[in-house]
Amino acid sequence: MCSVSLKRGRFTIALYGQIPARCGADEGVILHVSGAHGVGGTLGNPSAKVGAFYLYEIIMQIADQTVASFHYTLTDDNGQVIDSSQGREPLTYLHGTGQIVPGLEKAMVGRVAGDQFKVQVAPGEGYGEHHPELMQELPREAFQGVEDIQPGMQFQGHGPQGVINVTVTKVDGEKVHIDGNHPLAGQTLHFDIEVTDVREASAEELAHGHVHGEGGHHH
Ligand SMILES: [Zn+2]
Repeated sequence: MCSVSLKRGRFTIALYGQIPARCGADEGVILHVSGAHGVGGTLGNPSAKVGAFYLYEIIMQIADQTVASFHYTLTDDNGQVIDSSQGREPLTYLHGTGQIVPGLEKAMVGRVAGDQFKVQVAPGEGYGEHHPELMQELPREAFQGVEDIQPGMQFQGHGPQGVINVTVTKVDGEKVHIDGNHPLAGQTLHFDIEVTDVREASAEELAHGHVHGEGGHHH
């Protein structure tokens, strides 16, 4: 058995039965794909005798223009669970569009359904570094129209790069402490991942830049 990768890098093809002499060289391999998953179809290799057929299995790999679903558990440096999809539907995303943090998106490339792996993501490839300048004290009158300001409340504010979400961290008399950092900024993210499905994105999904159907948009 050997594997041949297609140019676009989307599939791994496992050949069974007769193995062509030039197996491994992806140039010259003509593939007629009848379905994204499963076993069957025909593979003709110009280096093999004309009409030679092989059984093959196509295993979709995560790459640009694929839709992947996965379960995740996210823990911090102390092993505390921050978030998890366990007990819920897996998360489904369109790969290559920045819908998940960059460090995780990189680690997903080439994975196939059934893969389980752990990956550590540094803040720079996660939710960003922690910027102390985004922590500020504001006078209470900056929150006009809000009667009862409590820690945990979120507001939109203006940061150096446009609108940012700020969270009230402390109310101290007439002073309101706010933090414009993402709650996970500055943290190393420890992901435990299980890929549950990989499929090709539809033309419509690519045009919209998001997933449709199960786990995605319904419109
Ligand atoms: Zn859409």
